[in-house]
Amino acid sequence: MAHRVTLIPGDGIGPEITEATRRVLDATGVEFEWHPQQAGADVMDAHGGDPLPPETLESIRRNGVALKGPITTPVGEGFRSVNVRLRNELDLYAQVRPCKTYKGVRTRFDDIDLVIVRETTEDNYAGIEYAYGSPEEEELAAWIEAHGNRLPNPDSGLSIKPISITGTRRVVEFAFDYARRMGRKHITCVHKANIMKFTDGLWLRTAREVAAGNPDIRFDDRIADNMCMQLVQWPEDYDMIVAPNLYGDMFSDLAAGLVGGLGVAPGANYGNDVAVFEPTHGSAPKYAGQNKVNPIAEMLSGVMMLHHLGEHEAGERLEAAIADLIREGKSVTYDMKPRRDDPTAVGTSDVADAVIAKLEA
Ligand code: NAD
Repeated sequence: MAHRVTLIPGDGIGPEITEATRRVLDATGVEFEWHPQQAGADVMDAHGGDPLPPETLESIRRNGVALKGPITTPVGEGFRSVNVRLRNELDLYAQVRPCKTYKGVRTRFDDIDLVIVRETTEDNYAGIEYAYGSPEEEELAAWIEAHGNRLPNPDSGLSIKPISITGTRRVVEFAFDYARRMGRKHITCVHKANIMKFTDGLWLRTAREVAAGNPDIRFDDRIADNMCMQLVQWPEDYDMIVAPNLYGDMFSDLAAGLVGGLGVAPGANYGNDVAVFEPTHGSAPKYAGQNKVNPIAEMLSGVMMLHHLGEHEAGERLEAAIADLIREGKSVTYDMKPRRDDPTAVGTSDVADAVIAKLEA
């Protein structure tokens, strides 16, 4: 039976790389029934100002699986991030970002195979923010002062960082299950419990409790700033990292940089009943519609989706075809060439054609 998958092209470069990914997934021979749905600024007007229409959410809930292109978020103003809302509405609490070196990618390291698991419903991303000068901010600032604390400066915006036992436990349990499923041996928990005792402290204590029930996997922890240095100096010492939302976002970009950049960094968001697959990178609006950018990060997210659907053989075949293409270095986009102005760089759809040719060879 065909796998029913919600397909969200997104905006900016999203539609081009999503189409390239859909084509290579179809070329694996696995049968898909694609259900295209919209989200993002471009479709707001047609949906009463809502950049995340209810039909899109319903389709993902019904199918349980979605492949998604990136979606632009206006900085500092405008609507709340569609990506953050999607995670909250579908309770996608665990984001997985594998970072692996493929031969042929120019990197400072050549043997990295690291998975970042990031909590995605809590922390500063929870969207509990109060603008400086709003009645809510003034009330909260007064409450804070009445309870023995002082804001360093009165002209402050306020953002709340909730971290719970429930949220921590389920993402750390997810990390242990994932480690076991994928044959990984070591999880490092990232935190700043030395400074934020009641949020990161609770995160670390809860993670240690979960680890105590999973003695088959090695568990340790690192303070986030130390982890930054460790990852850049000795990335090979780490296997999986589990992190709260904000640090996890930064570590996944850092790890993407270690393996050759955003062009090769896939991702997936998991809840209990739903999984959404998308690249780590954003919508790179300045390249939209130019058939120029690299579709490989979304294609590798497609590989993760195949494994999630139990199509392991097709997942391995597609990953091997992509790895081959990267190793040859011929049919790749500008960002994977030795020089960014290399005239032999190919376009987004040409990468898809070349991967399909390999799958069909
Ligand atoms: P970005 O990842 O879109 O782009 C940063 C730079 O990385 C680009 O200018 C480009 O040089 C390079 N790049 C990114 N993807 C590439 C690709 N596939 N091939 C080649 N080069 C690529 O990051 P940004 O500029 O910070 O964000 C742009 C928008 O995307 C913002 O609105 C942001 O909120 C949004 N965003 C969305 C998601 C998501 O949908 N999950 C994730 C991150 C950012």
